[in-house]
Formats: sequence, structure tokens, C-alpha cells
Amino acid sequence: MDLAIAGKWALVCGASRGLGLGCAQALAHEGVNVVMVARRADVLESAAEELRTQLGPQSAVHVVTCAQDITSEAGRAAVFARHADFDIVVTNAGGPPTGNFRDWDRAAWIRAVDANMLTPIALIQATVDGMAARGFGRIINITSSAVKAPIDTLGLSNGARSGLTGFVAGLARSPIAAQGVTVNNLLPGAFDTDRLQTIFQTAAQKTGQEVDAIAALRRKGIPVQRFGVPQEFGAVCAFLCSPWAGYITGQNILVDGGAYSGTF
Ligand code: NAD
Repeated sequence: MDLAIAGKWALVCGASRGLGLGCAQALAHEGVNVVMVARRADVLESAAEELRTQLGPQSAVHVVTCAQDITSEAGRAAVFARHADFDIVVTNAGGPPTGNFRDWDRAAWIRAVDANMLTPIALIQATVDGMAARGFGRIINITSSAVKAPIDTLGLSNGARSGLTGFVAGLARSPIAAQGVTVNNLLPGAFDTDRLQTIFQTAAQKTGQEVDAIAALRRKGIPVQRFGVPQEFGAVCAFLCSPWAGYITGQNILVDGGAYSGTF
């Protein structure tokens, strides 16, 4: 299937590793020009270089890196100075730490809300009207399966992402919907990324169990009996960015190997 998005411009945040990188790769392989953002210049540049190698020397696709903290106003300004008119925006800024809510002070909550709610909203605010004026736009927010099936130790994530989810539900159905702009949230379950490893390591330190034992138990709870890989996540993202997905908006789409156990 030709996704018919070649030549479009995408902003992909948190693109040096994990799910963001999976999205950047999938879009670039469809011929989309990608501006990859993450904080660490060395990690980001090596991820971009690998992608350029995969695309081959004849590729006309632009893979642009921008080492910035996307949660800061200055970081976002630097990204938009590099390229302004995005057709596709994938929001993502890493996840908040796990823990016990009794230990989280106001600053911890502000950091989580800033990264996982206010930053995506700021990115949408900066791009959505341009998309609508041009008659095409795709916004994908990487959130979490925890939005539908909360995990107690991920309270910062559950709370901040629920705020974004509520906002998106209204925005997606506003007049931009009739102007070719869709806004959807992609909800990862357990994907084999650095983030998942960090969560397992934290749990191992707290419980004294082996990391492998914790991972095996988690795997057992997933109907497909394995963790997802970022390429699978990226492929779903690329499809949602295509014109073929123009009738899908305002949705929370789980990519979790069947882990969410509910009919609806
Ligand atoms: P990851 O930690 O492996 O990668 C995160 C990426 O975001 C990295 O490229 C990092 O450099 C970048 N990043 C972090 N903070 C940033 C900032 N302020 N500015 C710019 N870039 C920043 O994480 P992942 O597993 O790919 O997860 C992506 C998102 O999906 C996170 O929000 C995570 O909480 C969520 N999620 C992941 C899983 C999973 O199993 N991996 C499950 C549920 C939800």
C-alpha cells in the first residue's frame, strides 16, 4: 500500500530512541522529510545517520536533526526556526518516573504535566492552524495504555496524559476536522525500549527481584506473549499519517499486544 505521504514534512519528538525513533524511521521510509528532535546531540545524530544509511545515498528524503529540549519554550522556538510548516507532528517527550504519589511534590507534578500535557498542546497550537489552512494535517500524540488501564506506580503519567487526552477529544472534533486535520493518540503497551528497561530496573531495586523475572512476568500478562518492537509502533503511526486514515480522528488507539482486557 502506498501511504501517499512522500514529500510531506514531519516533526517527530523524542526521536533518538525507542518509539519516537520507530515513528521517524517509518515516516522517512515512506518518503516523508523528518525533523528529528531529542536532547542529546550525539545519540540523535547517530540515529539520524543510521536512518540516512538505510534510506541510501540516492534518497531525496531530508532527515534533519535538532538537539533541543522540546519541553522548553526556547527548544520549541529553535525547532520551528529550523522548519515551520509541518504536515505531520508526532508529540513525545519521554515518560515521567514511576513511584509512590506520597513522594511527589508540586515540582514533580509540574514537570510531568509540562512534558506530557502542556508540551504536546504547545506543539499543536503552533502547527494546527497552518495545517488546516493547507487542508491537510496529522497530529499523533504518543501517550500510554495507562490512559485506559492505569498503573498505580505511574500516577504522574496517568494524570498528566489524561489531561492531554481530554483536550485532544475536544480539539479533534472542532472545525479543524472538516479542514483535513486529524488528531489521534497512540497508546503503547509494553514496548522493548530503554524506557521499559528503566521501569523494570526500578522495580527490581524496589522488590529485590531479578530484572529478567520481572520482565518474564510482564510478558506472560500480554496475550501475544512478547513485547512490541518500535518498528511495529512506527508502522501504525505512518498509516495514521496517511490520507487513508482521514476518517480516523479523536481516537485513542492501543498498540499493546492485546494486553488491555476490555471489549471497548
Ligand atoms: P525512551 O525513553 O526509550 O525514549 C524517549 C525519547 O524521548 C528519547 O529519544 C529521548 O531522548 C527523548 N526525550 C525525552 N525527553 C525529551 C525532551 N524533554 N525533549 C526532547 N526529547 C526528549 O521512551 P519510549 O519507550 O520510546 O517511550 C516513548 C513514550 O511512550 C514515553 O512517553 C513513554 O512514557 C511512553 N510509553 C512507553 C511504553 C513502553 O513500553 N516503551 C509504554 C507506555 C508508554
